[in-house]
Amino acid sequence: MTLIDGKAIAQQVRDEVREEVAAWVAEGHDPPGLATVLVGDDAASAIYVGGKQKASAEVGIRGFDHRLDHSASHDEVRALLHELNANPAVNGILLQLPTPPQVNGSALTEEIDPGKDVDGLTPISTGLLAKGLPGLRPCTPSGVMELLRRHDVALEGAEAVVVGRSDLVGKPISAMLLAANATVTTCHSRTRDLAAVCRRADVLIAAVGVPELVKGDWIKEGAVVIDVGSPAGDVEFAAARERARLITPVPGGVGPMTIAMLLDNTLLAARARVR
Ligand code: NAP
Repeated sequence: MTLIDGKAIAQQVRDEVREEVAAWVAEGHDPPGLATVLVGDDAASAIYVGGKQKASAEVGIRGFDHRLDHSASHDEVRALLHELNANPAVNGILLQLPTPPQVNGSALTEEIDPGKDVDGLTPISTGLLAKGLPGLRPCTPSGVMELLRRHDVALEGAEAVVVGRSDLVGKPISAMLLAANATVTTCHSRTRDLAAVCRRADVLIAAVGVPELVKGDWIKEGAVVIDVGSPAGDVEFAAARERARLITPVPGGVGPMTIAMLLDNTLLAARARVR
């Protein structure tokens, strides 16, 4: 069994983005810009936004850190997003969710210019992914694919099982695995005999949010197991690692990949705008 070291792979991605940003700027382009919009003073959200801004600065991405008061109106946030859509120095826009109740965060996310949708969650980005067309992909699912890619996991023709069908994680991962020519089964809370479906998996992705839902004896001998669960893993790790060929720990597996892929998306968005 080999542990997938998400921290090390995320650092590799970040180092590569830093080098690519430096080369991009050396070619005479403006540095890519990432705008974050935080409404209110939720402590966890402030930490996430701070982490994204810090990681951006480390790779040479220019940060636009917008913080609005807890009482900011829906229209104020909307006006700021439209201003950022129009600002050519901004290549990526993130509206940190959740927003206070008077601000409809999910509706506003849809107003982000699809070319700047570095979270990959607008209907346009979702449609591009569903059609297999180039576009900005959601960061955590991209991080999962990057872990598989960097471990040379063969996906073509493989039985891939994804547990979870959220718009944020499960559905986009299923679409990406399908695009990589895996045979994909997507499971959810109404799936009959989840154990039997998981036992078929050459590649098993757990994105549920129920600690240790996936039991060790559901893992096929030699399977690759990716656990998206956070902060606790969705897979019974100690037992699963005895059977898996490759497995992610929690923490230190998928978690660190999300910000790394956000940086990559911001560079991608900057390049796509110039092309
Ligand atoms: P979510 O929106 O709550 O979706 C959970 C999915 O799991 C749903 O599709 C649900 O089915 C399914 N499910 C729930 N109970 C189940 C059961 N007993 N059997 C089979 N399927 C079941 O969660 P999410 O946003 O996708 O997040 C999933 C996990 O990933 C969470 O632990 C979250 O914290 C973590 N996460 C980590 C990162 C990161 O590391 N950067 C990023 C995002 C999320 P239904 O659709 O039928 O309800």
